[in-house]
Amino acid sequence: MKILVINCGSSSLKYQFIDMDGEKLLASGLVERIGIEGSQIKHEKAGMDKYIVKEDMSDHKAAITYVLDALKHDTYGVIQNVKEIDAVGHRVVHAGEKYASSVLIDKDVLQALKDCIPLAPLHNPPNIIGIESMQELLPDVKMVAVFDTAFHQTMEPAEYIYPLEYSYYEKYGIRRYGFHGTSHRYVSKRVSDMMGKDIKDLKIITCHLGNGSSIAAVQNGKSVATSMGFTPLEGLAMGTRCGDIDPAIVTFLMEKENLSVAEMDNALNKKSGVLGISGVSSDFRDIEQAAEQGNKRASLALDIFNNRVKKYIAAYAAMMGGVDVVVFTAGIGENSASNREAICQNMEFLGVEFDAEANKVRGEEKLISKASSKVKVYIVPTNEELMIARDTLEIVK
Ligand code: ADP
Repeated sequence: MKILVINCGSSSLKYQFIDMDGEKLLASGLVERIGIEGSQIKHEKAGMDKYIVKEDMSDHKAAITYVLDALKHDTYGVIQNVKEIDAVGHRVVHAGEKYASSVLIDKDVLQALKDCIPLAPLHNPPNIIGIESMQELLPDVKMVAVFDTAFHQTMEPAEYIYPLEYSYYEKYGIRRYGFHGTSHRYVSKRVSDMMGKDIKDLKIITCHLGNGSSIAAVQNGKSVATSMGFTPLEGLAMGTRCGDIDPAIVTFLMEKENLSVAEMDNALNKKSGVLGISGVSSDFRDIEQAAEQGNKRASLALDIFNNRVKKYIAAYAAMMGGVDVVVFTAGIGENSASNREAICQNMEFLGVEFDAEANKVRGEEKLISKASSKVKVYIVPTNEELMIARDTLEIVK
Protein backbone atom coordinates (compact mmCIF):
# COMPACT_ATOMS: atom_id res chain seq x y z
CA MET A 1 0.00 0.00 0.00
CA LYS A 2 1.29 3.47 -0.94
CA ILE A 3 0.45 6.34 1.38
CA LEU A 4 0.74 10.09 0.91
CA VAL A 5 1.44 11.99 4.13
CA ILE A 6 0.46 15.67 4.16
CA ASN A 7 1.36 18.38 6.64
CA CYS A 8 -0.28 21.73 5.79
CA GLY A 9 0.89 24.94 7.42
CA SER A 10 -0.62 28.36 6.80
CA SER A 11 1.56 29.02 3.75
CA SER A 12 3.45 25.75 3.38
CA LEU A 13 2.81 22.10 2.69
CA LYS A 14 5.19 19.23 3.43
CA TYR A 15 4.60 15.78 2.00
CA GLN A 16 6.05 12.30 1.88
CA PHE A 17 4.99 9.43 -0.31
CA ILE A 18 5.75 6.11 1.35
CA ASP A 19 5.50 2.52 0.13
CA MET A 20 4.38 0.73 3.30
CA ASP A 21 5.67 -2.53 1.90
CA GLY A 22 9.09 -2.16 3.55
CA GLU A 23 8.31 1.42 4.70
CA LYS A 24 10.27 2.85 1.77
CA LEU A 25 10.25 6.61 1.20
CA LEU A 26 9.53 7.04 -2.53
CA ALA A 27 9.39 10.84 -2.70
CA SER A 28 9.07 13.88 -0.50
CA GLY A 29 8.80 17.60 -0.87
CA LEU A 30 7.87 21.01 0.33
CA VAL A 31 5.62 23.69 -1.14
CA GLU A 32 6.41 27.15 0.16
CA ARG A 33 4.77 30.57 -0.01
CA ILE A 34 1.29 29.29 -0.86
CA GLY A 35 -0.93 32.29 -1.55
CA ILE A 36 2.10 34.61 -1.44
CA GLU A 37 4.21 35.88 -4.33
CA GLY A 38 7.09 33.52 -5.15
CA SER A 39 5.42 30.13 -4.49
CA GLN A 40 7.47 27.08 -5.32
CA ILE A 41 7.53 23.34 -4.92
CA LYS A 42 10.72 21.43 -4.14
CA HIS A 43 10.14 17.77 -4.92
CA GLU A 44 12.62 14.99 -4.38
CA LYS A 45 12.37 11.49 -5.71
CA ALA A 46 14.44 9.20 -3.47
CA GLY A 47 18.02 9.09 -4.78
CA MET A 48 17.61 11.93 -7.29
CA ASP A 49 18.28 15.68 -7.46
CA LYS A 50 15.58 18.07 -6.34
CA TYR A 51 12.96 19.03 -8.90
CA ILE A 52 11.89 22.64 -8.37
CA VAL A 53 8.93 24.42 -9.93
CA LYS A 54 8.35 28.13 -9.32
CA GLU A 55 4.76 29.01 -10.19
CA ASP A 56 2.02 31.03 -8.54
CA MET A 57 0.00 28.82 -6.21
CA SER A 58 -2.90 30.87 -4.99
CA ASP A 59 -4.20 28.37 -2.43
CA HIS A 60 -3.64 24.92 -0.92
CA LYS A 61 -5.70 23.23 -3.61
CA ALA A 62 -3.39 24.67 -6.26
CA ALA A 63 -0.38 23.53 -4.22
CA ILE A 64 -1.76 19.99 -3.96
CA THR A 65 -2.30 19.92 -7.73
CA TYR A 66 1.44 20.61 -8.12
CA VAL A 67 2.26 17.88 -5.61
CA LEU A 68 0.17 15.36 -7.55
CA ASP A 69 1.78 16.52 -10.83
CA ALA A 70 5.27 16.10 -9.33
CA LEU A 71 4.37 12.60 -8.12
CA LYS A 72 3.30 11.76 -11.71
CA HIS A 73 6.24 13.55 -13.40
CA ASP A 74 7.95 11.64 -16.27
CA THR A 75 11.43 11.85 -14.73
CA TYR A 76 10.93 12.77 -11.08
CA GLY A 77 7.63 11.04 -10.55
CA VAL A 78 6.98 7.76 -8.76
CA ILE A 79 3.48 6.93 -10.02
CA GLN A 80 1.72 7.05 -13.38
CA ASN A 81 -1.76 7.68 -12.08
CA VAL A 82 -3.14 9.17 -8.87
CA LYS A 83 -5.09 5.91 -8.48
CA GLU A 84 -1.81 4.50 -7.15
CA ILE A 85 -2.25 6.64 -4.03
CA ASP A 86 -4.01 4.18 -1.73
CA ALA A 87 -4.61 6.50 1.20
CA VAL A 88 -3.71 9.91 2.57
CA GLY A 89 -2.60 10.65 6.13
CA HIS A 90 -3.02 14.24 7.33
CA ARG A 91 -1.18 15.79 10.24
CA VAL A 92 -3.66 17.78 12.31
CA VAL A 93 -2.54 19.86 15.26
CA HIS A 94 -5.52 20.00 17.60
CA ALA A 95 -8.29 17.55 18.37
CA GLY A 96 -9.14 19.00 21.78
CA GLU A 97 -10.53 16.26 24.01
CA LYS A 98 -12.37 14.63 21.14
CA TYR A 99 -9.80 12.10 19.87
CA ALA A 100 -7.19 10.11 21.75
CA SER A 101 -5.97 8.37 18.61
CA SER A 102 -5.93 8.74 14.84
CA VAL A 103 -9.25 8.50 12.95
CA LEU A 104 -10.67 7.93 9.48
CA ILE A 105 -11.86 11.31 8.23
CA ASP A 106 -15.60 11.72 7.65
CA LYS A 107 -18.04 14.63 7.97
CA ASP A 108 -18.21 14.33 11.77
CA VAL A 109 -14.44 14.35 12.12
CA LEU A 110 -14.16 17.44 9.91
CA GLN A 111 -16.78 19.15 12.03
CA ALA A 112 -14.91 18.22 15.22
CA LEU A 113 -11.74 19.77 13.77
CA LYS A 114 -13.64 22.92 12.91
CA ASP A 115 -14.98 23.00 16.48
CA CYS A 116 -11.37 22.96 17.69
CA ILE A 117 -10.35 26.05 15.67
CA PRO A 118 -10.64 28.37 18.72
CA LEU A 119 -8.03 26.17 20.44
CA ALA A 120 -5.58 26.31 17.50
CA PRO A 121 -6.52 29.33 15.39
CA LEU A 122 -3.26 29.33 13.44
CA HIS A 123 -2.89 25.61 12.89
CA ASN A 124 -6.24 23.88 12.46
CA PRO A 125 -7.55 26.09 9.60
CA PRO A 126 -4.72 25.21 7.17
CA ASN A 127 -4.95 21.55 8.26
CA ILE A 128 -8.67 21.57 7.44
CA ILE A 129 -8.14 23.35 4.12
CA GLY A 130 -5.54 20.68 3.24
CA ILE A 131 -8.02 17.90 3.98
CA GLU A 132 -10.88 19.51 2.05
CA SER A 133 -8.69 20.30 -0.98
CA MET A 134 -7.36 16.77 -1.01
CA GLN A 135 -10.90 15.38 -0.79
CA GLU A 136 -11.91 17.44 -3.82
CA LEU A 137 -8.94 16.26 -5.85
CA LEU A 138 -9.00 12.61 -4.72
CA PRO A 139 -12.67 11.99 -3.82
CA ASP A 140 -12.38 8.19 -3.71
CA VAL A 141 -9.30 7.95 -1.52
CA LYS A 142 -9.57 7.20 2.20
CA MET A 143 -8.02 9.81 4.47
CA VAL A 144 -6.87 9.64 8.06
CA ALA A 145 -6.23 12.44 10.56
CA VAL A 146 -3.31 12.05 12.96
CA PHE A 147 -3.30 14.56 15.80
CA ASP A 148 -0.45 16.24 17.69
CA THR A 149 -2.57 16.28 20.82
CA ALA A 150 -3.89 12.67 20.74
CA PHE A 151 -0.97 10.90 22.45
CA HIS A 152 -1.25 13.15 25.50
CA GLN A 153 -4.96 12.46 26.06
CA THR A 154 -3.92 9.74 28.53
CA MET A 155 -2.79 12.35 31.08
CA GLU A 156 -4.70 12.38 34.37
CA PRO A 157 -6.76 15.45 35.39
CA ALA A 158 -4.21 16.16 38.13
CA GLU A 159 -1.72 16.76 35.32
CA TYR A 160 -3.87 18.61 32.81
CA ILE A 161 -6.09 20.86 34.95
CA TYR A 162 -4.61 24.30 35.64
CA PRO A 163 -4.96 25.89 39.06
CA LEU A 164 -7.50 28.43 37.75
CA GLU A 165 -11.22 28.77 38.37
CA TYR A 166 -12.57 25.38 37.30
CA SER A 167 -15.35 26.99 35.25
CA TYR A 168 -12.75 28.16 32.66
CA TYR A 169 -12.04 24.52 31.88
CA GLU A 170 -15.74 23.81 31.54
CA LYS A 171 -16.54 26.94 29.55
CA TYR A 172 -13.52 27.25 27.26
CA GLY A 173 -11.69 23.94 27.49
CA ILE A 174 -8.72 25.61 29.15
CA ARG A 175 -6.45 22.73 30.18
CA ARG A 176 -3.11 21.22 29.23
CA TYR A 177 -3.35 19.41 25.88
CA GLY A 178 0.31 18.97 24.92
CA PHE A 179 1.74 18.81 21.40
CA HIS A 180 4.39 16.95 19.34
CA GLY A 181 2.47 13.82 20.36
CA THR A 182 3.26 11.95 17.16
CA SER A 183 6.98 12.51 17.72
CA HIS A 184 6.91 11.55 21.42
CA ARG A 185 4.95 8.42 20.51
CA TYR A 186 7.35 7.47 17.69
CA VAL A 187 10.59 7.91 19.66
CA SER A 188 9.28 6.27 22.84
CA LYS A 189 8.21 3.19 20.88
CA ARG A 190 11.42 3.17 18.85
CA VAL A 191 13.68 3.40 21.91
CA SER A 192 11.88 0.52 23.60
CA ASP A 193 12.45 -1.57 20.44
CA MET A 194 16.13 -0.55 20.41
CA MET A 195 16.44 -1.61 24.06
CA GLY A 196 14.67 -4.89 23.31
CA LYS A 197 12.05 -4.09 25.96
CA ASP A 198 8.29 -3.87 26.03
CA ILE A 199 7.31 -0.19 26.18
CA LYS A 200 4.85 -1.14 28.95
CA ASP A 201 7.81 -1.98 31.21
CA LEU A 202 9.61 1.33 30.78
CA LYS A 203 9.62 4.81 32.27
CA ILE A 204 10.70 7.03 29.38
CA ILE A 205 11.41 10.76 29.15
CA THR A 206 11.35 12.02 25.56
CA CYS A 207 12.97 15.40 24.78
CA HIS A 208 11.75 16.79 21.45
CA LEU A 209 14.08 19.78 21.03
CA GLY A 210 13.55 21.68 17.78
CA ASN A 211 12.24 25.10 16.80
CA GLY A 212 9.42 24.27 19.15
CA SER A 213 10.48 22.06 22.05
CA SER A 214 8.62 19.84 24.46
CA ILE A 215 9.30 17.03 26.89
CA ALA A 216 7.05 14.12 27.74
CA ALA A 217 6.97 11.50 30.46
CA VAL A 218 5.89 8.15 29.00
CA GLN A 219 4.99 5.39 31.45
CA ASN A 220 3.56 1.99 30.44
CA GLY A 221 3.52 3.32 26.85
CA LYS A 222 1.26 6.23 27.80
CA SER A 223 1.97 9.93 28.03
CA VAL A 224 1.52 10.91 31.69
CA ALA A 225 2.93 14.44 31.50
CA THR A 226 4.17 16.92 28.94
CA SER A 227 5.62 20.41 29.04
CA MET A 228 3.51 22.17 26.39
CA GLY A 229 0.10 23.15 27.61
CA PHE A 230 -3.08 24.84 26.45
CA THR A 231 -0.99 26.10 23.53
CA PRO A 232 2.52 25.23 22.31
CA LEU A 233 3.86 28.25 24.24
CA GLU A 234 4.29 26.63 27.67
CA GLY A 235 7.27 24.74 28.99
CA LEU A 236 10.81 24.99 27.66
CA ALA A 237 12.49 28.13 26.36
CA MET A 238 12.28 27.71 22.57
CA GLY A 239 13.60 29.37 19.43
CA THR A 240 11.27 32.35 19.74
CA ARG A 241 8.74 31.22 22.42
CA CYS A 242 9.16 32.07 26.07
CA GLY A 243 7.91 28.86 27.67
CA ASP A 244 7.25 29.04 31.43
CA ILE A 245 7.20 32.56 32.84
CA ASP A 246 5.37 34.20 35.72
CA PRO A 247 1.95 34.95 34.18
CA ALA A 248 1.90 38.29 36.02
CA ILE A 249 4.65 39.47 33.63
CA VAL A 250 2.06 39.48 30.86
CA THR A 251 -0.32 41.96 32.50
CA PHE A 252 2.62 44.01 33.83
CA LEU A 253 4.15 44.41 30.35
CA MET A 254 0.83 45.07 28.64
CA GLU A 255 0.33 47.98 30.99
CA LYS A 256 3.89 49.35 30.95
CA GLU A 257 4.44 49.07 27.20
CA ASN A 258 0.83 49.73 26.28
CA LEU A 259 0.62 46.50 24.29
CA SER A 260 -2.51 45.14 22.63
CA VAL A 261 -3.46 41.48 23.04
CA ALA A 262 -2.06 40.74 19.57
CA GLU A 263 1.21 42.59 20.31
CA MET A 264 1.67 40.74 23.59
CA ASP A 265 0.91 37.42 21.91
CA ASN A 266 3.49 38.24 19.24
CA ALA A 267 6.11 39.19 21.86
CA LEU A 268 5.65 35.89 23.74
CA ASN A 269 5.53 33.67 20.63
CA LYS A 270 7.85 35.38 18.16
CA LYS A 271 10.31 37.58 20.02
CA SER A 272 11.14 35.60 23.15
CA GLY A 273 12.98 32.35 23.82
CA VAL A 274 16.64 32.04 22.86
CA LEU A 275 16.16 34.74 20.18
CA GLY A 276 14.85 37.18 22.77
CA ILE A 277 17.61 36.44 25.28
CA SER A 278 20.54 36.34 22.86
CA GLY A 279 19.38 38.97 20.37
CA VAL A 280 21.31 36.84 17.86
CA SER A 281 19.01 34.28 16.28
CA SER A 282 16.41 31.60 16.99
CA ASP A 283 18.67 29.01 15.36
CA PHE A 284 20.85 27.13 17.83
CA ARG A 285 23.68 26.85 15.31
CA ASP A 286 24.00 30.65 15.20
CA ILE A 287 23.71 30.94 18.97
CA GLU A 288 26.36 28.27 19.60
CA GLN A 289 28.69 30.05 17.20
CA ALA A 290 28.10 33.42 18.87
CA ALA A 291 28.66 31.85 22.31
CA GLU A 292 31.94 30.34 21.12
CA GLN A 293 33.00 33.81 19.99
CA GLY A 294 32.38 35.15 23.49
CA ASN A 295 28.85 36.56 23.17
CA LYS A 296 27.64 36.46 26.80
CA ARG A 297 23.94 36.68 26.03
CA ALA A 298 24.22 33.82 23.56
CA SER A 299 25.82 31.71 26.33
CA LEU A 300 23.10 32.81 28.71
CA ALA A 301 20.40 31.73 26.22
CA LEU A 302 21.96 28.27 25.93
CA ASP A 303 22.27 27.96 29.73
CA ILE A 304 18.63 28.90 30.23
CA PHE A 305 17.51 26.46 27.54
CA ASN A 306 19.58 23.59 28.93
CA ASN A 307 18.69 24.26 32.59
CA ARG A 308 15.02 24.03 31.79
CA VAL A 309 15.37 20.75 29.96
CA LYS A 310 17.27 19.38 32.95
CA LYS A 311 14.61 20.65 35.35
CA TYR A 312 11.82 18.93 33.43
CA ILE A 313 13.77 15.66 33.21
CA ALA A 314 14.23 15.62 36.99
CA ALA A 315 10.61 16.62 37.60
CA TYR A 316 9.28 13.88 35.35
CA ALA A 317 11.59 11.30 36.92
CA ALA A 318 10.13 12.28 40.29
CA MET A 319 6.58 12.07 38.92
CA MET A 320 7.08 8.57 37.52
CA GLY A 321 9.02 7.35 40.58
CA GLY A 322 12.15 6.94 38.43
CA VAL A 323 13.26 6.86 34.83
CA ASP A 324 14.78 4.09 32.70
CA VAL A 325 15.68 6.04 29.59
CA VAL A 326 15.99 9.61 28.35
CA VAL A 327 15.62 10.21 24.60
CA PHE A 328 16.80 13.19 22.57
CA THR A 329 15.13 13.98 19.27
CA ALA A 330 14.33 16.76 16.69
CA GLY A 331 16.71 19.39 15.25
CA ILE A 332 18.61 20.25 18.42
CA GLY A 333 18.13 16.93 20.21
CA GLU A 334 19.45 14.97 17.23
CA ASN A 335 22.24 17.33 16.18
CA SER A 336 23.62 19.33 19.06
CA ALA A 337 26.19 17.33 21.02
CA SER A 338 27.02 20.33 23.21
CA ASN A 339 23.42 20.85 24.33
CA ARG A 340 22.95 17.14 25.08
CA GLU A 341 26.14 17.13 27.12
CA ALA A 342 25.21 20.26 29.08
CA ILE A 343 21.77 18.84 29.84
CA CYS A 344 23.11 15.50 31.05
CA GLN A 345 25.93 16.95 33.16
CA ASN A 346 25.78 16.25 36.92
CA MET A 347 22.91 13.82 36.57
CA GLU A 348 24.74 10.95 38.27
CA PHE A 349 22.44 11.43 41.29
CA LEU A 350 19.59 10.33 39.01
CA GLY A 351 21.53 7.35 37.65
CA VAL A 352 22.74 8.95 34.39
CA GLU A 353 26.36 8.20 33.44
CA PHE A 354 26.75 10.19 30.26
CA ASP A 355 29.26 9.04 27.61
CA ALA A 356 30.73 12.25 26.14
CA GLU A 357 32.68 10.30 23.48
CA ALA A 358 29.67 8.34 22.24
CA ASN A 359 27.74 11.63 22.19
CA LYS A 360 29.93 13.08 19.42
CA VAL A 361 27.50 12.17 16.66
CA ARG A 362 24.73 13.83 14.74
CA GLY A 363 21.38 12.58 13.55
CA GLU A 364 21.78 8.86 14.16
CA GLU A 365 20.16 6.33 16.47
CA LYS A 366 22.64 5.83 19.25
CA LEU A 367 23.15 4.99 22.93
CA ILE A 368 25.06 7.90 24.48
CA SER A 369 25.25 6.75 28.10
CA LYS A 370 27.91 4.42 29.49
CA ALA A 371 27.25 0.67 29.60
CA SER A 372 27.17 0.88 33.42
CA SER A 373 24.60 3.71 33.41
CA LYS A 374 21.44 2.78 35.32
CA VAL A 375 19.46 5.29 33.25
CA LYS A 376 20.07 4.96 29.52
CA VAL A 377 20.34 7.98 27.24
CA TYR A 378 19.62 7.65 23.52
CA ILE A 379 19.46 9.79 20.41
CA VAL A 380 16.50 8.71 18.27
CA PRO A 381 15.82 10.79 15.13
CA THR A 382 12.10 11.41 14.99
CA ASN A 383 9.94 10.39 12.05
CA GLU A 384 6.48 11.84 12.42
CA GLU A 385 5.62 11.18 8.77
CA LEU A 386 6.30 7.47 9.13
CA MET A 387 4.16 7.37 12.25
CA ILE A 388 1.32 9.12 10.36
CA ALA A 389 1.70 6.64 7.48
CA ARG A 390 1.64 3.67 9.90
CA ASP A 391 -1.53 4.95 11.58
CA THR A 392 -3.11 5.55 8.17
CA LEU A 393 -2.27 2.03 7.03
CA GLU A 394 -3.61 0.53 10.25
CA ILE A 395 -6.91 2.42 9.95
CA VAL A 396 -7.62 1.99 6.23
CA LYS A 397 -6.65 -1.68 6.32
P1 ADP B 1 10.83 22.15 13.67
O1 ADP B 1 10.28 22.36 15.05
O2 ADP B 1 10.64 23.34 12.78
O3 ADP B 1 10.47 20.82 13.05
P2 ADP B 1 13.49 21.05 13.83
O4 ADP B 1 13.18 19.88 14.67
O5 ADP B 1 13.88 20.84 12.41
O6 ADP B 1 12.39 22.16 13.93
O7 ADP B 1 14.66 21.85 14.55
C1 ADP B 1 15.18 23.01 13.99
C2 ADP B 1 16.25 23.56 14.89
O8 ADP B 1 17.27 22.58 15.11
C3 ADP B 1 17.00 24.73 14.25
O9 ADP B 1 16.38 25.93 14.53
C4 ADP B 1 18.33 24.64 14.91
O10 ADP B 1 18.30 25.50 16.04
C5 ADP B 1 18.49 23.24 15.40
N1 ADP B 1 19.62 22.55 14.76
C6 ADP B 1 19.67 21.92 13.58
N2 ADP B 1 20.91 21.44 13.34
C7 ADP B 1 21.66 21.78 14.41
C8 ADP B 1 23.04 21.58 14.78
N3 ADP B 1 23.88 20.93 13.99
N4 ADP B 1 23.44 22.08 15.97
C9 ADP B 1 22.59 22.75 16.76
N5 ADP B 1 21.31 22.96 16.47
C10 ADP B 1 20.84 22.49 15.32
